[in-house]
Amino acid sequence: MKERLRAPKGFQDVIPPKTFIWQHIEDRARKIFKNYGFHEIRVPVVEHTDVFVRSIGENTDIVEKEMYTFNDRAGRSLTLRPEGTASVVRCYVQNGLYTMPAPQRYFYTGPMFRYERPQKGRFRQFYQIGAEAFGVDAPYIDAEILCMLNDFLSDIGLDGLNCEINSIGCNKCRPGYRQALKAYLLSGLDGYCEDCRRRYDINPLRVLDCKVPSCIEASSDAPVITDYLCDDCSAHFRKLRKYLDSMEIKYELNPRLVRGLDYYTGTTFEITTVHPGSQNAVVAGGRYDKLVEEFGGPSAPAVGFAIGMERLVELVSDMDIVKEPGPGLFLICLNEEYRLTGIRILRKLRFSGLWCEMGFGASSLRSQLKKADRAGARYVFIIGEDEIKAGRIKYRRLSNGEEGYLPLDDYENMARLISDERI
Ligand code: ATP
Ligand code: MG
Repeated sequence: MKERLRAPKGFQDVIPPKTFIWQHIEDRARKIFKNYGFHEIRVPVVEHTDVFVRSIGENTDIVEKEMYTFNDRAGRSLTLRPEGTASVVRCYVQNGLYTMPAPQRYFYTGPMFRYERPQKGRFRQFYQIGAEAFGVDAPYIDAEILCMLNDFLSDIGLDGLNCEINSIGCNKCRPGYRQALKAYLLSGLDGYCEDCRRRYDINPLRVLDCKVPSCIEASSDAPVITDYLCDDCSAHFRKLRKYLDSMEIKYELNPRLVRGLDYYTGTTFEITTVHPGSQNAVVAGGRYDKLVEEFGGPSAPAVGFAIGMERLVELVSDMDIVKEPGPGLFLICLNEEYRLTGIRILRKLRFSGLWCEMGFGASSLRSQLKKADRAGARYVFIIGEDEIKAGRIKYRRLSNGEEGYLPLDDYENMARLISDERI
């Protein structure tokens, strides 16, 4: 295929059988998030560029280097969303959702776009499932969100992930910490990477988020934010931990967890795989108590997270436990004439909600049985001369070879049989 006809670098197709794992994960998320009162929200993939610049922050990697920004034909600067929270907050304020009873809880799924260096677990179009809860500042809601994530991850078979939590303080206590951190960094500033030296002036906390090994090493005994929290922030964080303990949710404290977006306040968290490496974060989130106001809304504290779908799908695929079941039925007609009866049966059974396949072409019974087996069908129905004469179909359960007959028009029992109900 010609290079310029291929999908652009960092953009990938999702094709069967992998799509089944995607669907499975999305279905389970929808189901479990609903148990916690989260409703789906659908926001556009394009926003005015300002929506992201003002919320994520001008001096972040996302805004500085990663956004797909373009002018539309009328000269407006638009951006393909690099993340979901800013759009959800924009939607929340624009639609006056804050007038609904608190907490207002929403979730979304969909593609995000970042111009990053593509590699395993890192794409330029990637999908997130995210959730946001507005209008409650009590730490209980932070705990509830972590509990929901825990339920969801163990439901899809991912029990052994690491949950790290931190509090990055508020406008009252963060400036004090910032100063202490700057004082610490200043003495060894030459030892840090170029990005970190720049971050030192603009946002020193981000030095703690740097993935360069020498920077991690150099900042290993930097002062930690949790020693600088004000009374409110530290009470909030303490209560959160109590709730998590009571819910029996395992977590680790990581005072270096500062996140790469400017809007966070207070609680931050990340869920990572135990495999080392920089692509090991599957979920990230935290509080952003001031963001709604920045969009012109009322004071509405909020907390949320985003799950990286590709990384989750990889983890679930590696375990090899989620398998798409095959069709309930593979129908074999031994000649073209019997197909007229066959397609009627097929239509009825599909209409009753069952996945049914049929052999095409004029191949032998043997080769059609092979096809049925390869498709992973639960049952085959066979219609041949004897069956038509006797007005019945022959069925065979492929797993154990059990056979029997049903009248050609007994769709109800056919459906029961295929669904593995007693007939
Ligand atoms: P990372 O540290 O891996 O760059 P991040 O802090 O930039 O992640 P967030 O913006 O918080 O990530 O997004 C939440 C989740 O979305 C991440 O934990 C990750 O699973 C996923 N994610 C982020 N960027 C990408 C990408 N380029 N490709 C695939 N998944 C991604
Ligand atoms: Mg990133």
